[in-house]
Amino acid sequence: MWKPTQALMDTITHYSQFPATGVSLRQMVQFGRNPSAGTLFKASQFLMKCHPSRESPIGICSRLRKLLVFRSPSFPEKYVKKTGLANPDIEPGAYRSSPWLITANSTGNGRKAQRRYYATVDDGVRWPPEIVDYNKRFTKTLQNIKHRHDPVVTTMAMGINEYKRKRQRMQIDNTIQSFLDRFYMSRIGIRMLIGQHVALNSAPEQEDYVGIICTKTNVRELAQEAIENARFVCEEYYGLFDAPKVQLVCKPDLNFMYVPGHLSHMLFETLKNSLRAVVETHGSDSEEFPPVKLIVAEGKEDITIKVSDEGGGVPRSAIPLVWTYMYTTVESTPPIDPDFNKSDFKAPMAGFGYGLPISRLYARYFGGDLKLISMEGYGTDVYLHLNRLSSSSEPLQ
Ligand code: ADP
Ligand code: MG
Repeated sequence: MWKPTQALMDTITHYSQFPATGVSLRQMVQFGRNPSAGTLFKASQFLMKCHPSRESPIGICSRLRKLLVFRSPSFPEKYVKKTGLANPDIEPGAYRSSPWLITANSTGNGRKAQRRYYATVDDGVRWPPEIVDYNKRFTKTLQNIKHRHDPVVTTMAMGINEYKRKRQRMQIDNTIQSFLDRFYMSRIGIRMLIGQHVALNSAPEQEDYVGIICTKTNVRELAQEAIENARFVCEEYYGLFDAPKVQLVCKPDLNFMYVPGHLSHMLFETLKNSLRAVVETHGSDSEEFPPVKLIVAEGKEDITIKVSDEGGGVPRSAIPLVWTYMYTTVESTPPIDPDFNKSDFKAPMAGFGYGLPISRLYARYFGGDLKLISMEGYGTDVYLHLNRLSSSSEPLQ
């Protein structure tokens, strides 16, 4: 006797647990008027498993499951033996009023109906080759889009600088500031989603990674890497043999779920700022620099990273300015070709005034924050709060 495979039974159990989404006549009419390739594709997704509502497998599986669980109260053993379905979890009493005969009778039409449903589930969950092909092509398009937009921050920064020069303004007003905050926040969001999609589609699976999210982001390792990179850039920029040291206090096994790329960016930017402040306060010809301290604390809610330096601090009047997009105390913006090729791109030490505001957006994107506390005449503490509950959704504006 034909028996459904365990994989098929698992699929049925999986899909039948989702609630089906109701569609009204009005929705169908609205959706179906002047259908384009896009809307027709959406409709097919709605019917396929790739759509979160997984309509057709859900409908079919929940119907099939109903057919399976309609069983005779007096023949449970026989039923289990026949179907190979161990212990179907049915509500007590539900089957008593059910037309059990339709499936309990192996020669009857009920069983035929069941077989039809099985075949359809099998069809519905196996991916047609054109879907696989579509995924590949769509991923390629997304990769191209992402690549095309790589230089946007730099080009925009240069545009803002031109504006600053033309208008001879030292500060940008609130309107431009909040426009840029929204612009860059949405850019981070789009790039996060595209990056995730591309990674899911193309990267070979890495342990502890789901797309670009690392379920066990090791803070110590990332911090060490950021320290090395920031010190290297600092040595190149000031022509130093040895950049200020960075003392790292972090438990070696401190892991949490995060996007490592975001954390690296924030650490690199804050460390560069501290190294620059230390070198410029003590003089690049100084024999020895006071070390920068990077301290990582693990709380229940947050992972907090403090970057402390003895780089003279920021005057209190300038604190609000450090979060604006063109505030920098570097005299001239470093020259950068906006069509730079990423592989030979050298990260600038400073000069765009983008390090802090963009890092704060990254921190806020997943429910964290970035704060700067200064003791003018002594040094600065930057606090990076990262939400470790992983429950906060992306900020919708
Ligand atoms: P950039 O580094 O390109 O100037 P940032 O947004 O990273 O842009 O920083 C803006 C400004 O804030 C810096 O130019 C500097 O004047 C000030 N700043 C940031 N971090 C520190 C720090 N740790 N110590 C002193 N000043 C700082
Ligand atoms: Mg900076």
